[in-house]
Amino acid sequence: MAKATTTIRQVLNHKPAYGAWFAANQALFNCVAAFYFDVIQAHEKVLQLGNQEALTALEHLTHTTKKNPHPVMPLSDIAEDIPAMFRRAAIHAALGSARSFATHLRKWRARKEKAQSKGKKFTERPPVPPQSWNKSATFYTGQWKERTEHSIVLKVWTGTCWSWLKVRITGRESPTDAEMGSPQLATGEQDNVALWRKIRDRDEQLAHLVSRRIVQFAREHEARVIVFEHLGNLTPEKGKYSRRSNTKRAFWMKGRIFRYAQYKAWNEGGVITCRVNPHNTSRECAHCGAQVVRYAAGQPEEGYTPGTPLVRCEQCQMRGHADRNASIVIGQRLIARYQPGRPQEEKPHTPRLAERELKDSGVTVSQEAKGEEQPFIAPTRHGSSNGHGTAHKGKRRRMGTPSLSIPPQLRLFTE
Ligand SMILES: [Zn+2]
Repeated sequence: MAKATTTIRQVLNHKPAYGAWFAANQALFNCVAAFYFDVIQAHEKVLQLGNQEALTALEHLTHTTKKNPHPVMPLSDIAEDIPAMFRRAAIHAALGSARSFATHLRKWRARKEKAQSKGKKFTERPPVPPQSWNKSATFYTGQWKERTEHSIVLKVWTGTCWSWLKVRITGRESPTDAEMGSPQLATGEQDNVALWRKIRDRDEQLAHLVSRRIVQFAREHEARVIVFEHLGNLTPEKGKYSRRSNTKRAFWMKGRIFRYAQYKAWNEGGVITCRVNPHNTSRECAHCGAQVVRYAAGQPEEGYTPGTPLVRCEQCQMRGHADRNASIVIGQRLIARYQPGRPQEEKPHTPRLAERELKDSGVTVSQEAKGEEQPFIAPTRHGSSNGHGTAHKGKRRRMGTPSLSIPPQLRLFTE
């Protein structure tokens, strides 16, 4: 039986300082939703399931438990300690978007087939997956409490920890006979020009935040050069449209982070930035150059599993965190390029988009580091005292209530 749903809009009044925390909460939510969208794209059959079965399947693919110790795409790779209800709200948002995207794609394919069967030229571009996410974070049971007519306490990710925040609410009161649903933190109407501007601003903020951290880290370690990889190869993969689009999304974000880090580094400390050939930076041993074995804790130390956290070199017995090893290789490539008497490293393959992007930023590799005879890079310590190598030893959370039915919603608007 269908249930009638009432959406009640109320305005949240909160201390100005909370604004940044709600933004951080929203950013995390979007990040988790985008992650699940990618998981669904990699496992398209999930979309043939109903919401409840799809939720179970997606949790099995991503959520580490005693019974499920090695999920295929662990959520813990992108964030630790996500509360169960927060995760489920994000899964629900991702499913909605993925279903809509799949429908658009199917219709586009049908139009294409029809045109081609008639011998007509078909130039319409295929639909693209969301470039940025602006899903409202729904507060399911467990994420909010102590709701009165005038206030509510919400569990919010502040950017550093989960915190209970009490906020005042104004606006239409809930009808007394209504079953209470889950409040949702909304930011406005979806089809609103001003809103889209806000979304772009938020993406900008994220790129600024990440680039700022990079520059801060470099300055703390007194580095004079920050070395990035050139953006990767963007050759579309045949028949896998979704994957191609995801690559584009990652490419876009990387480009922006590079450009922002570039000007911040230069303006704030005269630190220069440059890029090196990305070819096999993750596969080479930083110590001896041999091919590394890449694996996750608890898995056999053999082969090369992309995305796993650990590396081991069979030739020199180096062990460490995969990203750290790759970072050192990236630094070494820059130094190698400026060794006297060494042939210039081969120019990396730059696909069309990369050329455009390079032109936009007005940068080429050779210009960036010109005049620096021997770029100095702060010495690095190898080893993983920071625990990065033990990504899967974190807390294992048991699944909570399995309901993903959609309760009547209370929308709270932040201003
Ligand atoms: Zn080695």
